[in-house]
Amino acid sequence: MINVSPKCIGCNKCVPVCPFAAIQLIDKKAVINEACTLCGACVQICPVSAIEITREEASARDLSGYKGVWVFVELMESPDDAKRPRIKPVTFELLSVGRRLADELGEELSAVLLTDKNYGFEKELGAYGADKMYLAENPELYEYNTDIFATAIIALVNKHKPAAMLYGATIMGRDLAPRVASCLYTGLTADCTALAIKDGLLLQSRPAFGGNIMADILSPNSRPQMATVRPNVMKLAEPIYGKVAMTVREDIKIDKNLRRVKVLERHLTRDKGGVKIEDAKIIVSGGRGMKTKEKFKVLEELSRLLGGVVGASRAAVDLGLKDKSHQVGQSGATVSPKLYLSFGISGAVQHIVGMKSSDVIVAVNKDPNAPIFGVAKYGVVGDAHEIAPKLIEALKKK
Ligand SMILES: Cc1cc2nc3c(=O)[nH]c(=O)nc-3n(C[C@H](O)[C@H](O)[C@H](O)COP(=O)(O)OP(=O)(O)OC[C@H]3O[C@@H](n4cnc5c(N)ncnc54)[C@H](O)[C@@H]3O)c2cc1C
Repeated sequence: MINVSPKCIGCNKCVPVCPFAAIQLIDKKAVINEACTLCGACVQICPVSAIEITREEASARDLSGYKGVWVFVELMESPDDAKRPRIKPVTFELLSVGRRLADELGEELSAVLLTDKNYGFEKELGAYGADKMYLAENPELYEYNTDIFATAIIALVNKHKPAAMLYGATIMGRDLAPRVASCLYTGLTADCTALAIKDGLLLQSRPAFGGNIMADILSPNSRPQMATVRPNVMKLAEPIYGKVAMTVREDIKIDKNLRRVKVLERHLTRDKGGVKIEDAKIIVSGGRGMKTKEKFKVLEELSRLLGGVVGASRAAVDLGLKDKSHQVGQSGATVSPKLYLSFGISGAVQHIVGMKSSDVIVAVNKDPNAPIFGVAKYGVVGDAHEIAPKLIEALKKK
């Protein structure tokens, strides 16, 4: 419920920020009509805290009206076309898992796109499973801004009531989802590694206690059930070209006064090595077993010959064998290359969680009982310092 208290001074600040034109000034007091979606934009802007939203006890709420699975569509700059962004791959991964969840619920899967212009993404989103594309098109959505994007998402959620909403655990998703969750008084499970449906609820699984256990989380009393998922964790479904998501246009009014942070200048830095580890198709990774920085260099040569990127365990990073941007695992990058070659890595759960969805894992370790062999397709029990140079020799001969 939303209330305007007698403290209202009739300053008119709340009227333009309401995305749904739900506030009028009558006799110098803000009056809120039924178009209000409880997005809270007016609460944020009110200089005298005269507007209050009171939320019902979670358990007292009727949740039966919440239906469907939503995926937040993240856009990124396209390297080929500066004028047209492209959809971040994690969005397709979320749609792939979202499709499965929606089918199990017997409900719709929708993509939610906030953008300055309609770039015609309905075919791509449809191919990866979206039935609908909620499209909020507004010049103020030209770049990501926490306040503006959160206000728009909250307004759409309050209007359409999805049962579940998924975001990429990217810089943007990790900023946006918690704000939306706290404004909606709902929960958020960050960095999920598996999602399923259990008794009609979203079962959100993620590593807990330093990765030593997998925690299964349910949100029976709040909606939407919200989760972030790291890139490369969910398997990408085969796209079905020809399926087009139905566009649902959302007329959201956005007042630029909501923007508390302004980007004055942007500098794009390109990765020194070209390909980022998260996007690599081949990764040659080393652990503590590689011993020294000098010895680790053999993996760099092997990776170069294979056209790959070098990865490292946290122990290798802590020893200074490679810098942190190359770390694979729970507190590093999650990767899913076609080929993951591991040398002198034991296979601690915190490492495995970041690379287990690689297509083919080849592990070299001198300990036959090393846990890495449990996820490897090919295991070589032997000395990494002998095997890596032999591989290099063989590749050079080719
Ligand atoms: C909260 C938390 C987050 C973490 N996040 C991460 C993370 O993101 N990524 C990560 O990797 N770890 C992470 N860890 C650390 C993790 O628990 C392990 O300590 C780490 O992965 C071990 O790295 P390692 O396998 O290189 O070293 P070790 O466990 O010491 O294993 C070295 C392996 O090398 C083998 N070996 C030694 N010499 C040779 C040789 N000559 N030839 C072949 N094999 C050899 C040994 O048999 C052994 O199996 C995290 C831990 C915590 C608590």
